[in-house]
Amino acid sequence: MFSSIAGRCAVVTGASRGIGRGIAKVFADAGANVLIVSRTEESAAVASANLGENLSGFAADVTDQESCAAFAAAAEERYGGIDVLCANAGIFPVTRLEDLSVGDIDTVLATNLKGTILSVKACLPALERSGHGRVILTSSITGPVTGYPGLSHYGASKAGQLGFMRSAALELAPKGITINAVLPGNVETEGLREMGEDYRRSMEASIPMGALGTSSDIGYACLFFATDEASYITGQALIIDGGQTLPESLPAMTDNA
Ligand code: NAP
Repeated sequence: MFSSIAGRCAVVTGASRGIGRGIAKVFADAGANVLIVSRTEESAAVASANLGENLSGFAADVTDQESCAAFAAAAEERYGGIDVLCANAGIFPVTRLEDLSVGDIDTVLATNLKGTILSVKACLPALERSGHGRVILTSSITGPVTGYPGLSHYGASKAGQLGFMRSAALELAPKGITINAVLPGNVETEGLREMGEDYRRSMEASIPMGALGTSSDIGYACLFFATDEASYITGQALIIDGGQTLPESLPAMTDNA
C-alpha cells in the first residue's frame, strides 16, 4: 500500500525551506527521486544535500516561463521523466489594502498564481508521458476558506489556484493526470516565523489541536495524492489545519477546555 512513489520523479517548487522542504523529505523518504526548486543555486543545493542522496537542487524562478521550462528539462535529464509536480512556491507579504501598490499585487499574483500555472504547463508533456501524472498545488485556508487583514492579495492568489485547478482537472483527466490541492492552516516554517512571534502565538491559540502544523503534515497529504491509490481523485481541495477553520465562534474555542 502507498508504495508506488518509489523510484518515481517528484519536482517540488519552493523546496529550499519550509513546507516545500518538508514535502521533498517525505517524498525522498518514500523512495522518490526529488528535484528541489528554489530561486538560488545555493539554497536549493544545501536543502538537497541535507535531505539525502536521491535529491538534487535546481535554481529557477517560477514567475518566469523559461525558468520553469529549465527546471522541467533538468528533472527529465536527471531522473528520466516527471511523475509528480508539487507546485508549492509561494510568498505571503502582509500589506493592508490602503497601502497595497500595483507592484505588491503583481509580485504576489506572479509568484503564487502565475507561477503555479507556469510550473504546471512546463511539466505537462513529461507528466503525460509518465502515464500516471500527478499535480499537487499548495494553496491555503487563507483565501479559499478564511481571511486575514493584510492578506487580501495573497488570499486572492490562493483562491485563484483552486479556480485554475478545477478547469485544469477537466483538461488533464483524459491525459491520465490528476491535479489536487492541499490547503494548509498555519504551519511552522521560516516564512511563518518571519511574520513575528505575536502572529505565531495568536495562530497557535486558534487551533483546536493546540499546535501549528509541521511541514511533514503537509508532505504526507501530498504523498497520498501522488500514489497510485489516489488515481481516482482529481480537482479536490484538502484542508490540513488541526481544526483551525472549524470553530464557529470564540466560545467554541474558549469553552472547550
Ligand atoms: P517559506 O518558508 O517562505 O518558503 C518559501 C519557498 O518558496 C522557499 O523555498 C523559497 O526559496 C521559494 N520561493 C519563493 N519565491 C519563489 C519563486 N519565485 N520561484 C521559486 N521558488 C520560490 O514559505 P512556506 O511557509 O513554506 O510556504 C510555502 C507554501 O505554502 C506557499 O505557497 C504558502 O502560500 C503556502 N502556505 C504556507 C502556510 C504556512 O503557515 N507556512 C500556510 C498556508 C499556505 P527561495 O527564496 O530560495 O527562492
